[in-house]
Amino acid sequence: MKLRLADLESRSYKHIDTAGYPCLLCGREVNEAKAVWVFLCDGGSHITDDPESEEGDAGFMGAYPIGPCCHRKNRKVLAPFVEAGKVVTR
Ligand SMILES: [Zn+2]
Repeated sequence: MKLRLADLESRSYKHIDTAGYPCLLCGREVNEAKAVWVFLCDGGSHITDDPESEEGDAGFMGAYPIGPCCHRKNRKVLAPFVEAGKVVTR
């Protein structure tokens, strides 16, 4: 299953220069201890809950974090993707 990033709720995207990871949805720095991770594919336009089948694809981009406030706004729809991202450890 894939989900278009553009269909998710978020605060307006704001790029902030940060030493850490920016939130995939809003660009703000995330606290990695509180972030959830999802797998990006199709060149960054979609997230997938099946990274294994995407891994050989040129558009597969690996795991990216989503901060707590964006996760909260999309908790239900993100659930299967967050579950797939639990294999990520940093
Ligand atoms: Zn965010």
